[in-house]
Amino acid sequence: MTRPYILISNDDGVDAPGLLALRDALATFADTLVVAPESQQSAGSHAITLHKPLRLKERAPGVLACSGTPADCVYVGLQHAVTRKPDLVVSGINDGLNIADDITYSGTVAAAMEGHLMDVRSVAFSQDHRRPVALEAAAKVAAKVCQWVLAHHEALPPEALINVNLPSDVAEDTPWRLTRQGIREYHRQVREHRDPRGRPYYWIGGAHLGYREVPGTDGVAVHAGFVSITPLQLRMTCDPALDVMKRLGLDEA
Ligand code: MN
Repeated sequence: MTRPYILISNDDGVDAPGLLALRDALATFADTLVVAPESQQSAGSHAITLHKPLRLKERAPGVLACSGTPADCVYVGLQHAVTRKPDLVVSGINDGLNIADDITYSGTVAAAMEGHLMDVRSVAFSQDHRRPVALEAAAKVAAKVCQWVLAHHEALPPEALINVNLPSDVAEDTPWRLTRQGIREYHRQVREHRDPRGRPYYWIGGAHLGYREVPGTDGVAVHAGFVSITPLQLRMTCDPALDVMKRLGLDEA
């Protein structure tokens, strides 16, 4: 059997320890190509760069730094840099969880979404970073999850991409739990300060307060010490609203 081919990206940048650990773990069973942002791009979501050029720099054999966003990296990676169609796009390991509503802000998950939109099975990995992280163990777990996904690719619905969150002290034998996307409780904050010229400026984003304790959700599983694995989909039509709006006669107007 030929070795699987995996395109790897992230949003923390091409030098991030999580990316390097992931690459090393995946390289034990797969051929890898890294295309990752040259700088930190966290919370950049799914932006792509259409109004300026992108640059690629080879950092090492099989490691390209891209001047763009995580989604740009996967776009250029899949449409230009790969030598054959990858079996998997893998993003991470992010420095910090991407659970619940974080998923909509996440550059890590967006890189996986881009792979998914280009018809490659895609997996995102993120690790709790509020305590010291067991990164090597996390990478080994990530490699095992990727092998599981590769082995079951045919059985999995094509519309699924996989979002994985790991506890900080994850070990190779930490049990896996299937979860649903939960609900974050943010401490939403705007801090106003003054610049040296007396004009106001703002910092947004407060401390994370936590997540709603909904059984079976991603945050609950990770905080109970499990590896959380959530299949996601991108089709966003709200079917209940479609039914209500139909009943209210919207499309007869
Ligand atoms: Mn990040």
